[in-house]
Amino acid sequence: MPPQSIGSPDETKGSKNSGQSGANSPPTSDTSDRVSDPGGDMSDVDGFSGDIELDDLDLDAETDDEADEASRGLFDDLLEGEPIFENKEVLRPSYTPHKLPHREEQINNMATILVTALRGDTPSNILIYGKTGTGKTASAKFVSEELETTSQKYEVPCEVQYINCEVTDTQYRVLAQLANKFIEKNETYIENRLEELEALRERVSDSGDPDALLEDTEFDSPGALEDHIATLEDDLEEFDPVPMTGWPTDRVYSTFFDAVDYHERVVVIMLDEIDKLVEKSGDDTLYNLSRMNSELENSRVSIMGISNDLKFTDFLDPRVKSSLGEEEIVFPPYDATQLRDILQHRAETAFKPEILTEDVIPLCAAFAAQEHGDARRALDLLRTAGELAERDRTETVEEKHVRKAQQKIELDRVVEVVRTLPTQSKLVLYATILLEKNGVHNINTGEVFNIYKRLCQEIDVDVLTQRRVTDLISELDMLGIVNAIVVSKGRYGRTKEIKLSVPLDETEAVLLSDSRVGEVEDAQPFVQARFDN
Ligand code: ADP
Ligand code: MG
Repeated sequence: MPPQSIGSPDETKGSKNSGQSGANSPPTSDTSDRVSDPGGDMSDVDGFSGDIELDDLDLDAETDDEADEASRGLFDDLLEGEPIFENKEVLRPSYTPHKLPHREEQINNMATILVTALRGDTPSNILIYGKTGTGKTASAKFVSEELETTSQKYEVPCEVQYINCEVTDTQYRVLAQLANKFIEKNETYIENRLEELEALRERVSDSGDPDALLEDTEFDSPGALEDHIATLEDDLEEFDPVPMTGWPTDRVYSTFFDAVDYHERVVVIMLDEIDKLVEKSGDDTLYNLSRMNSELENSRVSIMGISNDLKFTDFLDPRVKSSLGEEEIVFPPYDATQLRDILQHRAETAFKPEILTEDVIPLCAAFAAQEHGDARRALDLLRTAGELAERDRTETVEEKHVRKAQQKIELDRVVEVVRTLPTQSKLVLYATILLEKNGVHNINTGEVFNIYKRLCQEIDVDVLTQRRVTDLISELDMLGIVNAIVVSKGRYGRTKEIKLSVPLDETEAVLLSDSRVGEVEDAQPFVQARFDN
């Protein structure tokens, strides 16, 4: 989260009215004539006397308000007024919509591949690609819910397990999480089965003709039934969940393997953000998962990988690559019209009726379309615009709220990117800021390097070579924090001209909040000295 001091320009707005409460004196004599109005017979009664009927007081809202004014708390002001949202949760990323406009094709493709599971066969592995916010996670979750519901309806054993590899990012954790989930599922499965069998056992023991009762079952005698119940009870005892750390990986793998193979079923493992897993821990997990089917006896595993990075298979072992990519589905970015439909749909449940002025959704859609067609960004914009309108206490969400929301989100992003830069990059960026603050135009790499060097010396940090600093500048450029263009200096060769592309003050504040960079107490003197030379 970005620091609170930045990016919340409106934080004082909420208390706009609370200043009045102190200024107003309590409603005594000056408000008394308002209390008594129609009959005129109570003109000398002060607001607090017991002579007034309760009903009269209730009718006179204004006096009530002022009487309350003195005790108004932090939240009263904010609660006042019509709320804008009907259900804000609908706009949050955690909400899974039941309708996904403009993803029918991708959803149908997934379903066509996965329907095999409902026929008891192993579906091909699927690899899903697409930039962030193109609806991959939402579609995959939607399909997996449908798949599980249908499998229950037709009593075909099929289970889907979803893992977010951005959170669960090592082979150990992925396998441990899978093992524990399947152990849990097995336990439920056994408990249900035991219930059925115990009921059967009771009927058998009550019946005069047990053989007839057992005829349609897999048991040829009451003893066999008894044995099976005992086995299941033992199995239930034996499951040993994997601890979060500490076991050798092969033990985790075999626990997972045994748990999956415990009974006949098709298992679909969804690995979301699979590129993060590969980036962090290599492709061993995928290798192990993709060769399981040749060894499983009862069950079958199918993998659905979801990646934000279109090129991530380049890093895979060729065997893994061909196995994982049996089927590929691409999620293209949304265009502005599609984003409009998506927003329209959500807005209907998220906001109270007639709250959005007509430009709001098209503008959110247009901004997000520029942001590689990111539906998440579109929804963030709409939610933030609503929140800003709420803080302004306007009755409608307007275009200006969307523009403000866009700025706020953009600033939050910058703050987050800058905050998480390595110290060396922060120093390079700070050097650039100091130069800009001192009115230097056409800042070049050499100038940045000189200031950077002084900063490093000041706070006792290793000085990188100018070449490395040039690389760091290019990285800052790629992150959109600075804009560096190569300019030719004729026979003196080429240099880079560097400009800050983010708001200076906010960025400087984030840099100085870093404990190391913050040690540069006052950099002005030596920046100045540099120009004096
Ligand atoms: P990805 O996984 O591709 O990064 P998500 O599936 O998380 O994207 O989608 C981002 C946000 O946009 C989520 O809140 C999701 O519900 C919403 N969203 C994406 N596509 C659609 C769509 N076609 N219809 C409705 N909401 C969508
Ligand atoms: Mg996703």
